[in-house]
Amino acid sequence: GAGTAPTEAELAAGRRAHELDRAHVFHSWSAQDKINPMTVVKAEGTRLWDGEGRRLLDFSSQLVNTNIGHQHPKVVAAIQEQAGKLCTIAPQHANDARSEAARLIAGLTPGDLDHVFFTNGGADAVEHAIRMARLHTGRKKVLSAYRSYHGGTHLAINATGDPRRIPNDYGDSGVVHFFAPFLYRSYFHAATEAEETERALRHLEDVIQLEGAANIAALLLESVPGTAGIMVPPAGYMAGVRELTRKYGIMYIADEVMAGFGRTGKWFAVDHWDVVPDLLAFAKGVNSGYVPLGGVAISGAVFDTFRERAYPGGLTYSGHPLACAAAVATINAMADEGMIENAADLGERVVRPALEDFAARHPSVGEVRGVGMFWAIELVKDRGTREPLAPYGSSSQAMDAVVAFCKENGLLPFANFNRLHVVPALNISEEDLREGLAILDRALDVADGFVDAP
Ligand code: PLP
Repeated sequence: GAGTAPTEAELAAGRRAHELDRAHVFHSWSAQDKINPMTVVKAEGTRLWDGEGRRLLDFSSQLVNTNIGHQHPKVVAAIQEQAGKLCTIAPQHANDARSEAARLIAGLTPGDLDHVFFTNGGADAVEHAIRMARLHTGRKKVLSAYRSYHGGTHLAINATGDPRRIPNDYGDSGVVHFFAPFLYRSYFHAATEAEETERALRHLEDVIQLEGAANIAALLLESVPGTAGIMVPPAGYMAGVRELTRKYGIMYIADEVMAGFGRTGKWFAVDHWDVVPDLLAFAKGVNSGYVPLGGVAISGAVFDTFRERAYPGGLTYSGHPLACAAAVATINAMADEGMIENAADLGERVVRPALEDFAARHPSVGEVRGVGMFWAIELVKDRGTREPLAPYGSSSQAMDAVVAFCKENGLLPFANFNRLHVVPALNISEEDLREGLAILDRALDVADGFVDAP
């Protein structure tokens, strides 16, 4: 919908918020003097309004978490209703919002992932999944893919396989990295998907054997790597990973923090390949980020480890009632309003052909890839060499210009290194989606201006 523009009072409050932000807020991942945060004065559905009252179409879903858009009335009402009944309760008690959220999540996750440990977000979900795997197996090492992101806390950032880890890596985490399939920049020099899959699985088995299977507690893998570039795994890879982890007694942890809860057009990304992990980490879309929440869905075998033996870990806000009430309302709204079907349908029918058309017309587009409402446009300086338009791990004048163009033309994009991601809410309308894609098309003209070889 069009929504109503902010009032003069809302805009004045926004100017004050910006001033105080610069005076007192310390921002993540940023050099504090080099940033100028965009003020958001209001948001509704797939739209938000910045400090100048400019209306922007949200193609980012913030950090790919507002999967049902902003201010969904059913979720806002559920949070308000829960706040009126019971705002908070310690994790050792039982509570209706928490129990119902756990029942719904256990029912949606595949296989025997029937118990849920709640956390405050994705990083702590990943950390607890690793801890459970270590306690269950009595082993220490963790295998994790390069070109991955698993969170900003100590172990989660050390498990991460991208440049964000480097300044945080003290070499004491027990994490060993391996290469997962990525045909466009194949580490395995493969020419086809089948070759990439076969070589990536052989590489993984070599890593397992050379590190010593008896030392490896877990293999941690984003089902579809998100911030690292939305590399949809080729046919056979996920089944191969499941087979290898089973063969060597390694716990397979699926990180579905970004890919889960409908983002790929199914409830969980592993559902595309009918793979059941031993542990599944989730967050973000579980309640669209309206109140911080994450968790680990736990298989029967891992659960059995902690029947008689205490699990030595916990969080004050584990299963927070406001967050769980938001999760129940979000999951029900996603199901009742057909949001996942919408994401799957619009992804194939609208986004895929539009992005393929961009790739055909814009020399800056090296590759487009994705599934559901989870797409990446990879920008290059030169299609022959595939040199990225921006170096991995830093910003660039070219990407800054592309993002600025989008914002000036009413679109809030998701940009990461040399990529633009198309990750709007799952319930975006076809009209809004086409409007955003048309703005991106023109933004790619800006990117084309930075191409070395025409
Ligand atoms: N895992 C994945 C795949 C993610 O994308 C993220 C966040 O972007 C995380 C873990 C960390 O989640 P959080 O920021 O909620 O701690």
